[in-house]
Amino acid sequence: MSVPERKISYKIPEPTLRRLPWYLSCAKLMRSQGERYVSSTHISRQINIDSSQVAKDLSYVAISGRTRVGYEVDSLIAVLEEFLGFNSMHKAFLFGVGSLGSALLQDTGLAHFGLEIVGAFDINPDKVGSVISGIPVYHTDKFSEIMQKDKVNIGILTVPISISQEITDVMISHGIKAIWNFTPFRIRVSENIVVQNTSLYAHLALMFNRLKDELKNEDL
Ligand code: NAD
Repeated sequence: MSVPERKISYKIPEPTLRRLPWYLSCAKLMRSQGERYVSSTHISRQINIDSSQVAKDLSYVAISGRTRVGYEVDSLIAVLEEFLGFNSMHKAFLFGVGSLGSALLQDTGLAHFGLEIVGAFDINPDKVGSVISGIPVYHTDKFSEIMQKDKVNIGILTVPISISQEITDVMISHGIKAIWNFTPFRIRVSENIVVQNTSLYAHLALMFNRLKDELKNEDL
């Protein structure tokens, strides 16, 4: 069956969405240091991004700064958290409770960013039936049943690469709308499904490459 074409135009540019959490962290740091106001120039200096870019990014968020003093730190934090969806909980299921999957289950930091993993799935009998950080691990065969009980929109993919697409299709056929994909496989989905690919290794390659250039420059 072919999937109908749907052109989606997102209002906020992706680079802006990637930068806003940096501004949030910066504002939180300022608050912990007792500051009441923060300017875009200060944020810009802290995170090494052009101040006009910071101001432009923040123009997407419903907050206005005061001339010279900047943004009120508490308001900026509240508005950014609301805007980024970090202060409301988004439930997720995780597939593949291996070394990466179980680390994510144990990561308490995710809740601070609005993600709550409410259940995990695996096929390994040593894992099925266990509870990790309060999160139950079910057999993948139980997914349909569990999904009916607990309506969840987000799926986290930490299974072996060979079954990435298969598990993706299972998730989507049961109503998952967004997939956080940690596998190094470019999963294929229809346009109405949101996919976020995340790779620690991609960042490593960038670091190695830049390091090589730096070391070469030192030798010159
Ligand atoms: P792992 O072998 O430790 O874990 C994989 C888990 O998937 C196992 O527990 C296995 O039993 C389970 N599994 C197998 N079939 C399943 C099924 N049908 N349903 C549910 N679970 C099933 O592997 P890992 O090191 O945790 O890596 C997992 C994936 O994440 C791999 O694809 C790996 O390449 C990727 N990975 C990505 C990053 C990153 O930075 N994005 C980092 C590490 C690993």
